[in-house]
Amino acid sequence: MTQFTLNQIGIIHSCYKEKFGIPRQPGQVPAAKATLELLPPYDREEALEGLEGFSHIWISFVFHQAQREQWKPMVRPPRLGGNKRVGVFASRSPFRPNPIGLSLVELDGIGKENGKLLLHIRGIDLVDGTPVLDIKPYLPYAEALTDARGGFAKVAPEKIFSVEFSPQAEAQCREKENEIPELRTVIEQLLQHDPRPAYSELDDRIYGIRIYDFDLKWQAEEGTIRVIALEPAIN
Ligand code: SAH
Repeated sequence: MTQFTLNQIGIIHSCYKEKFGIPRQPGQVPAAKATLELLPPYDREEALEGLEGFSHIWISFVFHQAQREQWKPMVRPPRLGGNKRVGVFASRSPFRPNPIGLSLVELDGIGKENGKLLLHIRGIDLVDGTPVLDIKPYLPYAEALTDARGGFAKVAPEKIFSVEFSPQAEAQCREKENEIPELRTVIEQLLQHDPRPAYSELDDRIYGIRIYDFDLKWQAEEGTIRVIALEPAIN
């Protein structure tokens, strides 16, 4: 078996602090801003020359929180309700023979801050700290294929929940407005896709999602997701 060594070129700084609740594909929460920090010796401005002309980039990364000793040839994608299997290579599962992920994200800008070379991106599906292997421009002329077949994931998941904020959650979002202006929209975009595992359709338990520096508490009611409060995260 041939083996290869890859070098980490960067790291993702994301508002998603744990895997639970992260969108299952990029673009679902466009309001969520993130950064990709290039690490030495790859933090060279010349290496990004020309990239500013592209609106979107491909990021390849390591699913560093999904490493397992054994790989399985079949997985159960959440898209199929978590109870039907498909081949791992027919899926976007984080659990693969090589834990390499690929996300298409919007590029908002490139800049230097405190000596760090940063790509400002949005709409990611990645946990904070994700190691980056490569960046490539998205080429619409070659890669935007309108007549492509989408297998078992032909269209976007159709079920969109309405999201309601409790007066407390509403006030907490307003309090944080200076620090995180997009907070309310991020929460709304995140929860409207119902992050619960498919098999918990009818439960009424209170869920918590670690985003930014708090624990977002919410509960599902019929067709609606209710944001209860933003509690300080306990590590
Ligand atoms: N767009 C990528 C990722 C799809 S899977 C691809 O197709 O390859 C997306 C899920 O991976 C997220 O919902 C989150 O739960 C999980 N995830 C994100 N970052 C991860 C990481 N660094 N390690 C393990 N799992 C991660």
